[in-house]
Amino acid sequence: MPLIIITGLPCSGKSTRAKQLHDYLESRIAETTAASSSTPKYRLHLISDQTQSISRTVYDLSPEKLPAHVRSANASEKDARAALYGAVKRVLSPRDIVILDGLNYIKGWRYQLFCEAKNMRTPSAVLQIGCSVDKAKQVNEARLARRKRTEQQASSQGQQQPEPKPEAEEKDSESPDHTKPEENETESILSKDDTSEPYSESNFENLIFRYEEPNPMTRWDSPLFTLIWEDDPHQTTQTFSKLWDVLAGESKKLVRPNL
Ligand code: ADP
Repeated sequence: MPLIIITGLPCSGKSTRAKQLHDYLESRIAETTAASSSTPKYRLHLISDQTQSISRTVYDLSPEKLPAHVRSANASEKDARAALYGAVKRVLSPRDIVILDGLNYIKGWRYQLFCEAKNMRTPSAVLQIGCSVDKAKQVNEARLARRKRTEQQASSQGQQQPEPKPEAEEKDSESPDHTKPEENETESILSKDDTSEPYSESNFENLIFRYEEPNPMTRWDSPLFTLIWEDDPHQTTQTFSKLWDVLAGESKKLVRPNL
């Protein structure tokens, strides 16, 4: 199998779905291995900006931050794509399932990945994570708010020089720190284990504007699967199961002639 290209707006829930897909495929591989009591048929890889240590800022083309010649060359983003391409290429084979979690918003880039899979004689598919712009914006704003809060926290801790306290005051130091900014309601949309960095506001708006929707009529964006934010675990499993079937199950044969 196969390359699974995840695509979607910034902060639309791509990494969450990529992890769920990873867990799902892991259990399908384990099932088929147990049934045939042989070595695993597939190895599984999850590649993302995070695994390649690519910062959100590489996508930032804000005019106030970059001079025009840098913006047009768009070098940082090209370097990031080259790193991702290298990472995919290193592991992609008919025995390796690669989940590429990222914006993957440029159709030319998805075409390039499709060709790479074709070269390796293994199928590819696109999983689009659908989410309203408002919801994605809410997530990014929550991450911005969290970053601001943690920065304020760090600076207020830096200002409080620890001075030797008289014994009587020592007990008070164990009481809650009221200078610590509280997590606000905006942040409640984020899961507790969310640690992802936000995009700057202008970077976020720009990426929304530049997003090139996948088109299932083109070879490189098909087969196209979609999951939306509201899809429950049952719907999610159904979509993953169809993906597995097309890329590794019986229906795989129907995909192969297009390779
Ligand atoms: P992206 O990878 O697109 O930046 P994430 O997967 O990191 O998005 O999700 C952003 C935040 O939204 C996370 O805190 C995550 O837990 C939450 N989230 C993502 N998808 C859903 C969903 N379908 N339902 C509820 N919360 C979600």
